[in-house]
Amino acid sequence: MEYKTNVRYRKESLKKLLYYVVKNEETIIQALYDDFKKSAFEAVLTETSYVISDLKYAINNINSWAKPKRVLPSILNFPSSDFIYSEPYGKVLIISPWNYPFQLALCPLISAVAAGNRVILKPSELTPKTSAIIAKIIAKAFHKNHVEVIEGDVTVSQQLLTQRWDYIFFTGSVPVGKIVAKAAAQFITPVTLELGGKNPCIVDETADLKLAAKRIVWGKFVNAGQTCIAPDYILVHFKVKEKFIIYLMEEITLAYGKEPEFSQDFPSIVNEKNWRRLCNLLIDTSVVFGGKTKEDKYYIAPTLIDEPSLDSLIMADEIFGPLLPILSYKTEDDLETIITRYEKPLAFYVFSLNSNFSKKIIQKYSFGGGCINDTMIHFANKRLPFGGVGHSGIGAYHGRLSFDTFSHKKAIVKKGNWIDLSMRYAPYKDKLTTIRRILKWL
Ligand code: NAD
Repeated sequence: MEYKTNVRYRKESLKKLLYYVVKNEETIIQALYDDFKKSAFEAVLTETSYVISDLKYAINNINSWAKPKRVLPSILNFPSSDFIYSEPYGKVLIISPWNYPFQLALCPLISAVAAGNRVILKPSELTPKTSAIIAKIIAKAFHKNHVEVIEGDVTVSQQLLTQRWDYIFFTGSVPVGKIVAKAAAQFITPVTLELGGKNPCIVDETADLKLAAKRIVWGKFVNAGQTCIAPDYILVHFKVKEKFIIYLMEEITLAYGKEPEFSQDFPSIVNEKNWRRLCNLLIDTSVVFGGKTKEDKYYIAPTLIDEPSLDSLIMADEIFGPLLPILSYKTEDDLETIITRYEKPLAFYVFSLNSNFSKKIIQKYSFGGGCINDTMIHFANKRLPFGGVGHSGIGAYHGRLSFDTFSHKKAIVKKGNWIDLSMRYAPYKDKLTTIRRILKWL
C-alpha cells in the first residue's frame, strides 16, 4: 500500500516505467506494425513519444499535484485555513481500445499511478502483440499488487466488470460504454467514458482550401482513419466543393502515392470484422476517389465518397476507417439539419477565414473538443481537457486533469481555536438582522 501514501514511491515507479518504455521502444514499434501495419513514424508520434512525454510530465509534476492545495477560506468560517487533499480512489480498472493500443492504455495508467491508485489494466485483444509487450513492461516496472495487466477478450472485460471497483476508466465504443456505465452503477463507481461519435468537418467558402485539404487528409487518414477524433464527414460549401475535392485527391496522392496499398505509411484495417464492416459501408455510394479494397491485407484505400444519402449506411454511425463522405451545404440551416441528426460528437472541425463564422459555429454546437483551421491537434496540448459530451463520453483527462480524474478531492477546513465567534450558535434571538447584513456582503 506504499503507493497510496508515499508520493516518492509513486514517482520512483513511474521512473521505472519510463526506463522500460524507452528500453523497449523498438519492440513496441514493431508490435504496432505487426498488429496493423502502423508505420514507425506514426508509432513514435502518436504512441511511444506521447507516453514518454506523459511520463516525464507526471514525474516532474507529481509532487506539486499531490500536495494539499491551500484555498482562500470563507469569511463565514473565520478563523480557518482551508485545503483540498487529493486522495487516491483505491482500486482502478482501465479498459482500453485497439486503435492507439499503447498510448490509450498507458496514459490513463500513468495518471492513475501518479494519483496513488492500485491499477488493473485490460488492453484490447484486437492488437495482441502490443498488449503482450504492455503486459511485459508493466510486470517489470511494477509489483503485481500495485499495477497488473490482465489480457483477454470480451469475456475477460465482462468478468472484470462484475467486480467492485473504486474507479473505472473506459476508452472504446458507445455501445460498450453503456455496458460499462451500467456495471459501474451497481456499486456507484465513478467512471470516465472516452467514447466516439460522428465528427463533422465544415469547410466554408472563405477557407484556405488547399491547406484545409492537406490538414484534413492528414487528420482523416493517419492510422487509416481508425481514430476517435478523425473527421468523420465533410460539410463543404457548394460553391467550393468541386475545387476542394480536387485538392483532397492531390493531397492523398502526395501523402500515400498513386497506390496507397504499397505505402509504408498507410496502416491496414485492424481485423476482418472491421474490414468487412467498412467494405459494407461502400455499397451503393458514389466513390469519387479510392475505393479499392483487398481482403488478404485488410486494406481499404483512402476513399472519397460524394454526397451519400443521409439515410445511407455510411451516414448512420461513426465510420472509424479511411472512408470520407463529402456533403455540400448552402446555408447555415443546412448545416444544422445535418449536424443535429447525430449525437454530440467527440470532435468538431471548422475551416474558415471568417472568424465570426467559426466562432459562431463552435459556440452553437456541443461537442467534446476541436479545432479551427486544423484537425486533431487539440489532443496534443496537455493544458486542454480531452473528453466527450453526451454520447461521446463522460469526463475528461490530459495533463494535470488526468491526475485529478483519478483523485477524490477531499475538502478540509482547519478551524482556529484562538477565537470562537458566537454568531452561528443558538439561541439566535436578535442575531437575524446582523447575519443578514453580513451575508449581503459575501
Ligand atoms: P470497443 O468498445 O469494442 O472495445 C474497447 C474495450 O472494451 C476492449 O478492451 C474490449 O475488449 C472491451 N469490450 C468489448 N466489448 C465488451 C463488452 N461487451 N463488455 C465489456 N468489455 C468489452 O472499442 P474498440 O473497437 O476497441 O475501439 C473503437 C472505439 O473506441 C471507437 O468507437 C472509437 O471512437 C472509440 N475510441 C474513443 C477514444 C477516446 O479517447 N474518446 C479513443 C479511441 C477510441
